[in-house]
Amino acid sequence: MAQLSPHLKQATPVVATHGEGLYLYDEAGNRHLDFTAGIGVTSTGHSHPKVVAAAQEQVGKLIHGQYTTIMHQPLQELTRRLSEVLPAGLESMFFANSGSEAAEAALRLARQATGRPNIVAFQGGFHGRTVASASMTTSGTKFKAGFSPLMGGVVVSPFPNTAHYRPYGWDEEQATDFALRELDLVLQTQSHPADTAAFIVEPVLGEGGYVPGNSRFFAGLRDRAEKHGILLIVDEVQTGWGRTGKFWGQEHFDLSADIMMTAKGIASGFPISGIAARPEIMEKAWAGSQGGTYGANAVACAAALATMDVIAEENLVENSAARGEQLKSRLSEVATKYDQIVEVRGLGLMIGNEFNDAQGNPDGATAAAVQQEAAKRGLLLLTCGPSSEVVRFIPALVVSEQQVEDAVGVWEESL
Ligand code: PLP
Repeated sequence: MAQLSPHLKQATPVVATHGEGLYLYDEAGNRHLDFTAGIGVTSTGHSHPKVVAAAQEQVGKLIHGQYTTIMHQPLQELTRRLSEVLPAGLESMFFANSGSEAAEAALRLARQATGRPNIVAFQGGFHGRTVASASMTTSGTKFKAGFSPLMGGVVVSPFPNTAHYRPYGWDEEQATDFALRELDLVLQTQSHPADTAAFIVEPVLGEGGYVPGNSRFFAGLRDRAEKHGILLIVDEVQTGWGRTGKFWGQEHFDLSADIMMTAKGIASGFPISGIAARPEIMEKAWAGSQGGTYGANAVACAAALATMDVIAEENLVENSAARGEQLKSRLSEVATKYDQIVEVRGLGLMIGNEFNDAQGNPDGATAAAVQQEAAKRGLLLLTCGPSSEVVRFIPALVVSEQQVEDAVGVWEESL
């Protein structure tokens, strides 16, 4: 009998039959409060009626077209509508299906546009699981274990992650000085600027532990990018579409990208991703064949259009900011009672609780135990961080004030 690979680890025991808003229901009829949102994907809540209706209508009209064969209306309309929300200047789009493919596309574009081979990635970053995207990933050894040799041409420079440097007692300023100094050294000693196509960075480290960057660090990247003709790729796969309380994570830091990656929250769960770039970059590149059989699937495009409507009509970016503040302040209150939680951090509805043991080491075992206790009590959470030491709260952006309180109540019982 066919079965799923035993190596696929399931973080919760739930076998879902259906979902509605913030809730998932299982075969036994139990209701679970879902603060995972399919890893930050179903931002409009499970099966939002408007998204369902748009997808159903599109299924009846055209399921698949393939954009290098024919053009279809949902893709034309989505491209047009995206200009309402894309950061200024990033007007040229390419579509794929997943965040990893967006990373691959950004990498290909940067190499072709600059004619340079190397990429500088930042410590703790996560960009996906394909060979190229995993090569740029340093959020944990598990993402590369056993499948080397990976892609060459990637060097890694520090991110101003005060959690990593806690043993040194560095504040954000010191961590930022260090990260920028090391970046200069990387460009002197490992990847000459003339060989460096791009920097790739997340506004907030996601899988790396929910660690926001800061404006001075990103300004430093931008300066060096401009000085050396290096492109800045901003990975907004997890931070986009209102997740951080602003439409794009980069808005918190006045960060501007040459190439931006997006996926996850774009279509409420339908697989679609993309990169947006300055047109002159896109025009310089894309020699050879670009495309993909399923990219910008018509039903996914229709779902993305409905998602955009719901985000605007229900003020979900504003709700993410308000509920995010509530969540962070309530979790911070709870954390004061537990020595094991050394930091509550994040932006908007992307909040992590970091667990350390008595010696100050990352404590993935306790984080997992509390996450499991929460699952038993009907609250679904995930972990992240290099040692899975961070329990993260990442609910749909439609979450209510009461649902935040309910989640914090179960969290405290679980602790
Ligand atoms: N980039 C970031 C910042 C992510 O968080 C993820 C997934 O978690 C990816 C890329 C890869 O996306 P996918 O899992 O859709 O390939």
